[in-house]
Amino acid sequence: MLVVMQRLASDDQVQQVIRKIQELGLTPHPLPGPTRTAIGITGNTGAIDPANLDGLPGVMELIRVTKPYKLASREMHPDDSIVRTAQTSFGPGAFPIIAGPCSVENEEMLLRTAEFLVSRGIPLLRGGAFKPRTSPYSFQGLEHEGLRILRKAREATGIGIVTEVMDASQVDDVAEAADIVQIGARNMQNFSLLKRVSLCRKPVLLKRGLSATLEELLMSAEYVLAGGNRQVILCERGVRTFADHSRNTLDLSVIPPAKELSHLPIIVDPSHGTGRRGFVPPMARAALAAGADGLIVEVHPDPDRAMSDGAQTLNFQQFDQLLDSLRQLAAPLGRQLNPRPAT
Ligand code: PEP
Ligand code: MN
Repeated sequence: MLVVMQRLASDDQVQQVIRKIQELGLTPHPLPGPTRTAIGITGNTGAIDPANLDGLPGVMELIRVTKPYKLASREMHPDDSIVRTAQTSFGPGAFPIIAGPCSVENEEMLLRTAEFLVSRGIPLLRGGAFKPRTSPYSFQGLEHEGLRILRKAREATGIGIVTEVMDASQVDDVAEAADIVQIGARNMQNFSLLKRVSLCRKPVLLKRGLSATLEELLMSAEYVLAGGNRQVILCERGVRTFADHSRNTLDLSVIPPAKELSHLPIIVDPSHGTGRRGFVPPMARAALAAGADGLIVEVHPDPDRAMSDGAQTLNFQQFDQLLDSLRQLAAPLGRQLNPRPAT
């Protein structure tokens, strides 16, 4: 349920509605907009008698939200959300790029990568310190030492950090090192982790699970929003299908329905989506054309020696070529690559 306030409703009137919702045993979510405030309601809204609310001063209308994900739905929040970091923002007209290695391997390679990316105007560096690997014998990440290196890269270059959190016990340390906290595909439905990151103040990059539907992805986003963290970015990273020509099937067809159903930005990961570096540039361009709100791409100074995911990782020269081609496409599509933060 959504309570839409009149354009000139006073703060007192908004507070009165909020108190009434609390008295009914439900949770109010104030959603201030450019012209009017709306108040989302979650809880057992089926039992609400509309007369309890629509007679209150300043209330314009009540809208029943039909989708099971309430705060993530466009019904509740018709305008596109903008997710901001200190370096850039994700939202209408913008196309920020997150780039960097699969894993943080050592200080030298991470700093080299950060300096290269900053020289190309890239606002955000990716790199896993805690790595979810299929095999327990594969490189598991540098863990806390990896976070230290990420912090150093940010201090040295000003680039923002995107890094994964795998466990609720790591959230404080990861959030301190990160500008965006990543929830990996394998943890998309780790509900206790989602509840824990909903309490942190950093934006959350939520990757689609390997076999998750769009509705399941939006329900997972709902966990983060419902806990009070409004800064959620969705990410399509490929799903499991019968196809054996690529690591996953990058489902770019999820972008238009995601944008129809939700106000949250959605970015694309063509690296995990394809598994092969030669397939990354065409799918990155396709993502821009399909309406994605940004990219996350694996880049490494020497991908053939990378400790994880080298086969899908671009070297600096290949990344430069991709960037050139995206620049040419962005303007006619009305998008700005790597914008400065919106005010
Ligand atoms: C990653 O981006 O580092 C990663 C592990 O991706 P995913 O969770 O999509 O497999
Ligand atoms: Mn990877």
